[in-house]
Order: sequence, then C-alpha cells, then structure tokens
Amino acid sequence: MDKYEKIISLSKRRAFIYPSSEIYGGLGGVYDFGPYGVELAKNIKDLWWKEMVQFHENIVGLDSSIFMSSEVWKASGHVESFSDPLMECKVCNSRVRADHILEELGEHADEKMSDEEINKLLKKHKSEIKCPKCGKSDFTPARSFNLLVQSNLGNFAGDWSDNPTYLRAETAQGIYINFKNVVDTTRVKVPFGIAQIGKAFRNEISPRQFIFRKREFEQMEMQYFTHPNDADAEYQSWREKRMRFYTDTLKFKKENLRFKKHDNLVFYASAAEDIEYNFPKLGFKEIEGIHARSDYDLSVHTKRSGVKLEYTDPHTGEKYIPHVVEASSGLDRVFFATLSEFYDEDELGGENRVVLRLPFELAPVKVAVFPLLKNKPELVSRAREIFDKLKFDFMAEFDDSGNIGKRYRRQDEIGTPFCVTVDFETLDDDTVTLRERDTGEQKRVKISELKNFIK
Ligand code: ATP
Repeated sequence: MDKYEKIISLSKRRAFIYPSSEIYGGLGGVYDFGPYGVELAKNIKDLWWKEMVQFHENIVGLDSSIFMSSEVWKASGHVESFSDPLMECKVCNSRVRADHILEELGEHADEKMSDEEINKLLKKHKSEIKCPKCGKSDFTPARSFNLLVQSNLGNFAGDWSDNPTYLRAETAQGIYINFKNVVDTTRVKVPFGIAQIGKAFRNEISPRQFIFRKREFEQMEMQYFTHPNDADAEYQSWREKRMRFYTDTLKFKKENLRFKKHDNLVFYASAAEDIEYNFPKLGFKEIEGIHARSDYDLSVHTKRSGVKLEYTDPHTGEKYIPHVVEASSGLDRVFFATLSEFYDEDELGGENRVVLRLPFELAPVKVAVFPLLKNKPELVSRAREIFDKLKFDFMAEFDDSGNIGKRYRRQDEIGTPFCVTVDFETLDDDTVTLRERDTGEQKRVKISELKNFIK
C-alpha cells in the first residue's frame, strides 16, 4: 500500500471518514465524518474561525442558509456558466471531465473555454485519450454540464424545471446578499470582512480522489470588502496571511505548500492564486483560492435586485461599491491534507506503529486515561475519577479494553498526544504514568499536576 491508500484505510479503520450510505452500496462523491473525523474537522474549523473572526476586530461571522432565491444564482452567473465539460465513453458509458483528461496530456483547459475549443483540443489528442474505466478510445464530443444541484423546495405543482431552487454551490453568495444587512445593523466600516463556514453542493461529474472532490463538501470562506484603491494591497496581505495559516497555525511543512497563479483571469478579477498542498499520489492540488474580485459581486446583485449594495464613507461622504478580496478554503481538502501531513510510521520498543503526529490543537482526543488492569476495581475506579476530572478541560477518552500496548497503538493512530495510566503505585503515592505520543517517553506525574502538564 502507498501512503495515499494507507490514509484512506486509516480513515475508515479509525473512524475518521466513512463512505455515505455504505450499507446501500454507497453514494458517489458523498462521505460521512465518523466520531474522530468530526472532532478533527471541528478543530480545523475552530482554528480558522479563531484566526478570522476572533483575531480580527473588523471581521464578523455569518451563517446564511443553504437555500437562497434562485435569483442569486442567476445574478452570480452560476445558472448560465458554472459548468464543466463532460464527455461520455460510448463503450461503457463512463462520464469523465474533458478538461482533466486534457490537463493530464499537458494541455491547458479551463472553465472559460467554449465547447468548440475543448473539442478541438480533444480531436488533436484523439488516439491518446483512453477511457479510465474500460480503456477504449471512443467518446462523445464534450459538452458543458452545469454543476448546480437543483431541488424542488417550495414547488408543489411538480413542474420545477423552469425555475428550480438550488442548493448553494458556494457559501460566498450568502455573504454578498447579506452585505447591506451587516453594514446597516453592525458597526463595521470598510475595510471589513464577513466570514462563514458551511456546506456547499456541486454536481461534480467525476468525484474522486477520496475526499478531495466531493459533491457535498464544506467551505470556510471570508470576503473582505475594501476601498477600490486598497484592493491590491489587501490582496497581497491576505495571500500572505492565508499561507501563514497553513504553516504557522496548522503546522504544515513549507515545502508541502505553494502558490499557483491562475493562468487566465476571469474578466472582472485583478488577481487570483491558489494555495496548493502536495498530496500523496495526487501531487500539488488546490486547497484554497485567494481572489481579488473587484466590485463584480456587489454590482451584479445590485443590478439584478435593484437594491444598492454600496458604501458611504462616514468621514468623507464618498459613495462607492467596495471591492472584494476573497479567501476560500475547503474543509475537506484541508482535512485530507492534515492527515497526509501528520501520518507517520516508526518503530517504538521494537514494534512498528502508525502514528498521527497531529499538533495538540488538532488532535481529536487530547488525553486518554487507562487503568493498567481491567479486572482490578480499585484501579478502574481511580482511573475513572481522573477521567471524570480531565474531561471538563480536554476531550478525553477512557479505555480499559485489551492490553496496554494495544491501547497505546490505538491512541497513536488517532493522534492522541497524551496517555495516562493508573497502576498500583498510583494507589500509594497519587502519581500516574504519563506517556507522550511522539517519543513514547513515559514519566511519573502527580495527579494534581496533570492538568497543567497537559496544557
Ligand atoms: P477545483 O478547480 O478543484 O474544482 P474550484 O477552483 O472550483 O476547485 P473554488 O470554487 O475556488 O474551487 O472553491 C474554493 C475551495 O472549495 C477550493 O479551494 C476547495 O478547497 C473547495 N472545493 C471546491 N470544490 C470542491 C469539491 N468538489 N470537493 C471538496 N472541496 C471542494
């Protein structure tokens, strides 16, 4: 097994990620977070929120709804042009993304290219293009496939194809349409940001690469509203701040991260870059996009809704539509990058082990408490007592099953930084064995000092 497969296997074995609807054969591109996955995901989101909202006086939070008026998606351009080029294998009916196939062949293909341009490139490489499933080279021409997921919300007549309600494809639109609400009801002044974490849905043609490309995923997005003259400087500042989130807060190695400039900018953008992470097997791939989007978003919603989304400077009286700098990160991709970054194997006490060397803040469980022996009630009750105290300060786990070595291995695999073992010495002198995950080093610590020590 290579590292990529080992991570997928660990994710299932240790309750991080389960395929959705597994008992019914699964549902493509949809996954569930298991008991440890939900903790790790929450810790990533908490660090992002802390960094964005808590540390910035001028960034406020928002939780807009998944459903919005379909006008939102018409104004934003998603209904018309949020699409990927799809082609179908005539032999086995597999559907593939033509732009991905072209990229693998060294061609550049992006969302701004027309179907004709894509098909021209496909023709050039006709003999090299093989179906990933059956290996044959017989495809339909590529055609644009819209990625918006439709629903029948609020439509009881049955015919909802004319004007469907969509599940949001990004959280950002919920921020733009609340711009005026936030300006009118809080004390924010430009420059200021609105941050939001939430689910997004895209009808991805070929969801794949584990949780890298899902159909239901979660975004952590911050839209920063600036004076048009300050947009370039704010963009530079945010691209650096966002990189520091990965290197300094999440503690990813610098060499596993890089910026990638977009080759072709959309007409309204003045700058756009991705932060890429070096995933096992997949190589460098986008985890976050940072975009200088001009006044495009507020302008299109002003135009379509008829409501002016502008700002009046309280000092100068100047009226203008603010420019937007966006930092848009994908929780699932950061989660996958986190597992990749901290997955390790080593030898401890003559035994091979798998260990997730997660930073303390990210670890799903911070401390596990064990009685040395399960069948000694005095040890079990003492261990429970300690666990019941620690759980108020840390996500803690009590475990009295199996031999102690096995219990350590299990905690190593989920990245628990500390294990506490209660033994016969504890009953005499109120000390426990504290074992550290990365080195396996053990020391005696007074129970009264445990909390401070772990902190
Ligand atoms: P890609 O080109 O890989 O499809 P994108 O450029 O369309 O991604 P954005 O629209 O910029 O992505 O979305 C911002 C972030 O949301 C991405 O950086 C990524 O982390 C996350 N994201 C987008 N699509 C998916 C998906 N299908 N599954 C998981 N995360 C996603």
